[in-house]
Amino acid sequence: MDDKIKIKEKTPEVPLKNLETLWLQVGGTLCNLECSHCFISCSPTNKTIAMMTLAQVKERVREASELGVKDYYITGGEVFINPEIFEILETILSYGPLDVLTNGTQITSEKAQRLRVIQDASKNLLRFRVSMEHFDQAKNDAIRGKHAYQKATAGIACLAEAGFSPILTVTRTWEEGCDSEMELKFSKFLRQNGVKQPQLKILPEFLLGQLAKNKRYYSKEEHVTKKCFENFDITQLQCSTSRIATGDGVYVCPILVDNPFARMGDTIGQTMRPFPLAHSACYTCRVTGMTCKSTS
Ligand code: SF4
Ligand code: SF4
Repeated sequence: MDDKIKIKEKTPEVPLKNLETLWLQVGGTLCNLECSHCFISCSPTNKTIAMMTLAQVKERVREASELGVKDYYITGGEVFINPEIFEILETILSYGPLDVLTNGTQITSEKAQRLRVIQDASKNLLRFRVSMEHFDQAKNDAIRGKHAYQKATAGIACLAEAGFSPILTVTRTWEEGCDSEMELKFSKFLRQNGVKQPQLKILPEFLLGQLAKNKRYYSKEEHVTKKCFENFDITQLQCSTSRIATGDGVYVCPILVDNPFARMGDTIGQTMRPFPLAHSACYTCRVTGMTCKSTS
């Protein structure tokens, strides 16, 4: 038996159990920051994935709603550099609850007030997840660039002032086992910036994009086989309940959104099938139980 056939036999497939969530890559790969661990290498010049237009968002959200999708997430790149962002938010909110992933650096008091008006006009919940690295300015800016801390902190304070309670998203760059201690410190940081109900989402490092360049890529041993799911329900993986739409087709998940192997179709309807977990990033999802969603 040749190696390719052996690998195929060992590669598990994740079924699409139920399409509950649609992600939209509204910011493409364009970002005002250039973080040294960005797993899709976003930057002010990376146009690999174009920003989505309002017309594209409308088409995908309408399709998602017909397919029974219950909630929506938008991400990038940085979503607030999309010139149609406010219309995009209004459109998606007319279909269901929306989580907005942002680096927070573009949010001014004026924009936060406009977001308040959009939220007040909708029956669906609008939430924000602001990504940072650290409550220590120097440690944060060492990864995110000069002034990133100051701008993101100001963005968080503006959101809080407008009555939102942004969730802070951080990538685990500290030793395993220190999560509770770090959570307390991040909560204090959020409270100091006006957030009344501090919440933290900790993400694992994916050895892709800039992090692969700056640290290392996955080793040959870091991949999943069918054996990895003997005592783990494969449908707990987020790719069993979600897809991500871009301006150029629909992909399996936000982590592999710049990988042609993960492009499943032009429309969401074309992606309603199992997906082979052949990428090493799937190993990180399996060992950490990671989901990109805000809950769990
Ligand atoms: S990690 Fe987030 S904020 Fe940083 S470059 Fe990537 S998309 Fe932008
Ligand atoms: S990277 Fe994670 S979410 Fe994406 S296909 Fe692999 S297991 Fe699923």
